Amino acid sequence: MGSVREPCLLCGEDVASWANRVTKAGLLPDDIARIHDRFLDAAHIIAVRDDGSMMADKLKPVCPACHRVVDKLTNERRKELLTSIGYC
Ligand SMILES: [Zn+2]
Repeated sequence: MGSVREPCLLCGEDVASWANRVTKAGLLPDDIARIHDRFLDAAHIIAVRDDGSMMADKLKPVCPACHRVVDKLTNERRKELLTSIGYC
């Protein structure tokens, strides 16, 4: 899985643009620093509810907003989308 410093694989938002947005919202630098390393979520190619694997090669780094969208997809579409994107 890619580094948390890389952008979301779906929308392209990166930690710098995210930090800029939350700074405008008034989040303090210490709070931003604490959240920085957890900017990206790990979306399961196969949902956990369907016995999806926790192995790194079965996870894709996406931002929390994109993760919510992915979680609404059918299993088939989710797998198709997440296997079509990646850093390698
Ligand atoms: Zn995203």
